[in-house]
Amino acid sequence: MIELPVRDPCDLCVAARDEPWKIIDEGEHTLTVINPWQFETGQCCVITRRHVALLLDLTAEECAEVMTAARRVAHALVATYRPLGILTFQNNGVYSGQETPHFHFHVVPRQKGSDWGIGPPQLATFDGAGRERGTVHDAGDDARRRERVRVPAIDLSKTVERIRSNLPA
Ligand SMILES: [Zn+2]
Repeated sequence: MIELPVRDPCDLCVAARDEPWKIIDEGEHTLTVINPWQFETGQCCVITRRHVALLLDLTAEECAEVMTAARRVAHALVATYRPLGILTFQNNGVYSGQETPHFHFHVVPRQKGSDWGIGPPQLATFDGAGRERGTVHDAGDDARRRERVRVPAIDLSKTVERIRSNLPA
């Protein structure tokens, strides 16, 4: 059984409803929002307008629009940051690293020398490409890293404006 994370109120519902400055792009079924933890500058998520948790919960229309929205913002991220790569990932359940029980598809512009190695942050080490086999996960290190990449609202909103200005017509 897939165990869902608990977060009440849901931060993504709050962003969708009360924090319009976090919204980069809007579709009929999706919103693209900035991630408050900027492990990479510009990293954002495509979320569903509906509060559903998992990929398994999506309708066919939502699935299609998530990918279309991800492609749109990927174009904007390339135009804005000239990244060396674009990483996408999506977590389903606590055991896959999901932290908010609201569907979100990460879209991340990767740069050389950034903070998390290769792959999603919860799977990667700080200073290498992938955690060494058998190494115990250090949650304390995650907390310190999170604090470092927590960006003030004023800077986040500037990032949103920059990316939004480069969305395809
Ligand atoms: Zn929600």
